[in-house]
Amino acid sequence: MLFGMDPRLPHKLHLELTERCNAACPMCARRVDGGQLNPHLADREITRALFEQFFNREFLQHLIELRLCGNFGDPAVAQDTLAICEHFRAINPSAALIMHTNGSVRSSEWWFRLGRLFKGKHDAVLFALDGLQDTHSVYRRDTSWQRIIENADAFMRGGGNAHWVFLVFEHNQHQVDEARTLAKTLGFRQFTLKFTKRFRSHRTGKLRSRYPIKDQTQAVIGYIKPPSIPTYLNPVVTEGSLTHIGEVCCRAILNSEIYVSAEGLVFPCCWTASAIYPATTTEDRGEIGDLIRLAGGKETISLKNHSLNDILQANTFLTGLASRWHHNAEPGPAICVRICGQTVDAFKAQFQHQRL
Ligand code: SF4
Repeated sequence: MLFGMDPRLPHKLHLELTERCNAACPMCARRVDGGQLNPHLADREITRALFEQFFNREFLQHLIELRLCGNFGDPAVAQDTLAICEHFRAINPSAALIMHTNGSVRSSEWWFRLGRLFKGKHDAVLFALDGLQDTHSVYRRDTSWQRIIENADAFMRGGGNAHWVFLVFEHNQHQVDEARTLAKTLGFRQFTLKFTKRFRSHRTGKLRSRYPIKDQTQAVIGYIKPPSIPTYLNPVVTEGSLTHIGEVCCRAILNSEIYVSAEGLVFPCCWTASAIYPATTTEDRGEIGDLIRLAGGKETISLKNHSLNDILQANTFLTGLASRWHHNAEPGPAICVRICGQTVDAFKAQFQHQRL
């Protein structure tokens, strides 16, 4: 049952295993411009025991994709990632297993073992490698380019499919071709350029010509700038406010996908999940937070209190959210209009993939 409207079980699960991360990237929602921690976070984590409690065998067997990513943490940091992947693989040998990571933690042995579980055609670990050794850590702060390369190498020796994901800025745009060549030489299967939309504030619509990098005291210690090469710019940055197409076409329903946060809360997608925990305020007011309160509170979408089936079949937050998409006089919520209701798919436009 997908949001009380569709009789099928979801085919894809996007799962956040942890709110913890070793890095301090300026544009990540985990911190305020890379500095102070988001006040809503509490190092919550899905352990192997919780994974088994939340997702029964029938549901896991039914999945065609398990994606380990999330809004706030890095799955390589979570204590039970390897055990969870082994458990999932034993139950479902054919589903695509995908993980997004900065790749700068754990031992080579750990990555080698993980690689043995990511050998399928559609499996992949996406390593964030934003340039070469001299530029990578400008954005991907507190990570080591050399260590990521070593970990990716161990992962590939284990048989895993590795993708190199390069977030392009002004300071690293000149290294794209060299990085692509190196990725091929090292054995990465795919090279992806990523064009961020975060230079434009989604709240004010204002375009920033540079974005601050802050330390833990919130002092500005530098800036990052968008690429000066136009083909590396996201359309949201170049075109400003995009046109609303009139009604929302929910990507989660189209993909038959749900999102579960490290807190164990069930959402249609990561965007609605992140909307309740803004980094710059301790308040969680906002349209999504209000819809959850109206439906009875976070407990009603928590896998710690209810089974996944019960939440998907009966939860009024999910059905209430869906009912707002076709409300012609007042389409919303704003996050849905922005992500799934505009002429240009700014999310998809972030990526340029190349098989190697
Ligand atoms: S942002 Fe809204 S419309 Fe888009 S996938 Fe999420 S819930 Fe669906």
